[in-house]
Amino acid sequence: MDIPQLYRSQKAFFNSNQTKDVSFRIQQLKKLKHILKSNEQKLYDAIYTDFAKSEFETYATELALIYHDINLFIKKIPDWSRKTWVSTGLANFPASSYVMPEPLGNTLVIGAWNYPYQLSILPALTALAAGNTVILKPSEVPSNTSRVMAELINTNFSSEYFAVVEGGVLETTALLEHRYDKVFFTGSTQVGKIIYQAAAKHLSPVTLELGGKSPTIIMADANIKMTAKRIVWAKFLNAGQTCIAPDYILVEKSVKEKLIEALKKEMAIYPHSAEEMSDHYLKIVNTKNFDRLDAMIDNSKVCHGGNRNREDRFIEPTLMRDVSFDDDVMKEEIFGPILPIIAFTDLDKVIQEIKNRPKPLSFYVYSKNKKTIKKLLKEISFGGGAINDSVMHISNSNLPFGGVGMSGIGSYHGKTGFDTFSHHKSILHKPFWFESSVKYPLYSNLKRKLISWLVE
Ligand code: NAD
Repeated sequence: MDIPQLYRSQKAFFNSNQTKDVSFRIQQLKKLKHILKSNEQKLYDAIYTDFAKSEFETYATELALIYHDINLFIKKIPDWSRKTWVSTGLANFPASSYVMPEPLGNTLVIGAWNYPYQLSILPALTALAAGNTVILKPSEVPSNTSRVMAELINTNFSSEYFAVVEGGVLETTALLEHRYDKVFFTGSTQVGKIIYQAAAKHLSPVTLELGGKSPTIIMADANIKMTAKRIVWAKFLNAGQTCIAPDYILVEKSVKEKLIEALKKEMAIYPHSAEEMSDHYLKIVNTKNFDRLDAMIDNSKVCHGGNRNREDRFIEPTLMRDVSFDDDVMKEEIFGPILPIIAFTDLDKVIQEIKNRPKPLSFYVYSKNKKTIKKLLKEISFGGGAINDSVMHISNSNLPFGGVGMSGIGSYHGKTGFDTFSHHKSILHKPFWFESSVKYPLYSNLKRKLISWLVE
């Protein structure tokens, strides 16, 4: 694809004002939903070829979120696009004031591989809902999902409005040579820095949805059986290749053994070898990631799982016990089916350990004690999270989704996403029939007193 030409055409199309029309946006979202719905089987087949993700998981963790937000936007765009009146104050009497949402313009959305549909299509459709044009660059890692998105979007939408550019570093670099009104990136913190630098050259605003290690604290008063059930699901969903998966467990020492036993019980349903692979568990996306994960596993600390097969890119859900903060598995985001367990006795020390590290994307605490929960939420800064659950906060689009510090800049989902891709234009509207003389020369003490009376 000729990137400079595509860029120019999207600029011209935005300037034609067509995307500002709310009914145009609604029509395009309905069209997108129809295209996805009528090609679901193609989407399922592509993702299965890439990393054996089942139809159930693809629907529940990717398409369901996409359909939900399409429906929400179709219903809410007319309301959210309306100006909102705000109070004006005497200084500007008899003016009125309002805030007018408007689309930012031309946007670039760069996706990650781990939820290839959700992380590409959801931000893209949010940008469209807010009235922008979109160039979408999905991750090249799951090549079949990238191809099917390109095929469906590029054959059904005009490229001046919504286009998919496939490719990796080379193509992304070429795309970033232009100025966008928003660069929306999902991926690693390391690449996030490269994107931020490239965008800064043009003063393009960014939203960066990044990663990191998300801690999970389990207190002795938690319901251990339910805790284990919820954590095991959240951790091994997508074979642990989830940015908000519980990365590691910090458990109060007195319940460590009980927790390990409960986790093992819950993990029994997963396959133990590549031959046992079923629709309930995925492959590791490629051998590069397999090797990275393989090197993290310290066999002497494995207390459940640990089987792996490079040829089939299979890693059994693996539990590691007696882990310390100095172990390899604690040095970088795991992003795979390995769950390390660290026991603690002093909660304040644990809080310090977390605070000494980059701010996590997610944080989870399992406890019934309101005081402990309040303390943790007050002391630890993180993007988003859950109490007595993991991962599920992503399913509520009323909750802004995004990181903080090294785990990201900005957020999206639902109304927050609409605002992320909008500019809120401030307007003061004054009629001609009255003008106070207070602000004009010649200045006097009386005028000054009047101003201070107005503001103080
Ligand atoms: P990645 O950073 O390797 O790649 C993301 C995108 O950037 C891809 O489209 C890729 O083609 C592009 N890219 C890679 N290197 C580039 C370069 N040098 N220059 C320009 N573009 C480049 O990330 P990934 O492996 O796809 O995803 C894994 C990471 O993403 C994890 O850290 C995970 O936590 C994070 N993640 C975050 C979220 C979130 O919502 N916050 C969601 C999913 C994944």
